[in-house]
Amino acid sequence: MKLRRFSFGVGDRFAMQGEAQLRAIMKANEAGIQITPVWNKSNREHSIVHTKPQDTRIEADSAVKSLQWGSEYFVDADHINMTNVDGFVQSCDFFTIDVAGFIGKSAKVEDIYRFVEGCARYKDRLIIPGLATPLVVGDKLLYEIAENFLAAIQEAGSIYRHIASDSSDKNFVVEISMDEVERAQSPVELFFILKMIADQQIPADTIAPKFTGRFNKGVDYVGDLKQFRNEFEADLLGIDYAVKEFGLPTDLKLSVHSGSDKFSIYPVMKELLQKYDKGIHVKTAGTTWLEEVIGLAVAGGEALDLAKLIYRNSYSRRKELCAPYADVIDINPVLLPLPDVVDSWNSKQFADTLRHIPGHPDYNPNFRQLIHVGYKIAAELGDSYYALVKKYAPVIGRCVEENLYERHLKRLFDL
Ligand SMILES: [Zn+2]
Repeated sequence: MKLRRFSFGVGDRFAMQGEAQLRAIMKANEAGIQITPVWNKSNREHSIVHTKPQDTRIEADSAVKSLQWGSEYFVDADHINMTNVDGFVQSCDFFTIDVAGFIGKSAKVEDIYRFVEGCARYKDRLIIPGLATPLVVGDKLLYEIAENFLAAIQEAGSIYRHIASDSSDKNFVVEISMDEVERAQSPVELFFILKMIADQQIPADTIAPKFTGRFNKGVDYVGDLKQFRNEFEADLLGIDYAVKEFGLPTDLKLSVHSGSDKFSIYPVMKELLQKYDKGIHVKTAGTTWLEEVIGLAVAGGEALDLAKLIYRNSYSRRKELCAPYADVIDINPVLLPLPDVVDSWNSKQFADTLRHIPGHPDYNPNFRQLIHVGYKIAAELGDSYYALVKKYAPVIGRCVEENLYERHLKRLFDL
């Protein structure tokens, strides 16, 4: 079983919302768009929350069983590398091989020469069918691309072969991710990266480049929409051409990380995917944790108090919590409400401030991003957090489902 044309990553920090997430996917299927659900969770999230890859497997399997989901689904070892992949092999059938840490490291000189020689036919101009103007390449750029990315893709090849030799299920999905870096990859770079992937004989199903603009966690895209459109279009057409030129899997598609809440680019993506009849994988994770907090606030009483405590502790420890996410959040501390003020809020005010409704007068993206990184606080609260999330599961589950279906899938797929 392979990914369908459309697939959706539903990360879940605390592994309690699998059913609510699957209900959202099932609603989309009923509305006419077949989507493969993928439960993704990274090593970083597992270690902060003290869960194991097997917990995600159990969550996915039990959601599928209780809702009688009869189609394919996957568990994604998100952002793994050679140092931590072994812990995921038994439980996962989707591997996001993260080689960002190897970008810029140099490969062997003879490998670089061989790669550049192998690109001779594209050296002067790269004519991508469908793109109005040929892309300028040249020796210098080819060498730069090889110097920047060849070692990273060689590493991806080693990790892929390691997984393939260890995994009993040979049918796993392979994603190559390079999104957690400072600089976006251009469509020209992506094309030659795909050649490297083909040279390494990695049967990649999805590729996650870094796109231009800011993909901050849990909030909307920040950047030039026209530029994003051009880049996304060139990436789609470049992948198409690379598949034909290099013999990569025909269903190879883009994967958009930190894809939740990027409402302003969804119409652009939707239009271009329709125009070129292409698929997409979109990863979301933290947006579900945020709905857990919203659900607690909506539940009121002790649950609202817990939501306020999570904010208070996140506020006082914001430097520590934000540090690992520095590249993917933009919080203006002046616009964060003081915890004493938040303590005076009722359910509605807390939920309206946190919930991502663009244009809502109470919505505060600074508040939202701080809570986004505050899941560590909930993890530390341990049983007292888990107990209330379980106790108020129906109201929380409704928030999770509504967020994924009403605000994400409907917008992305025009349902
Ligand atoms: Zn990512």
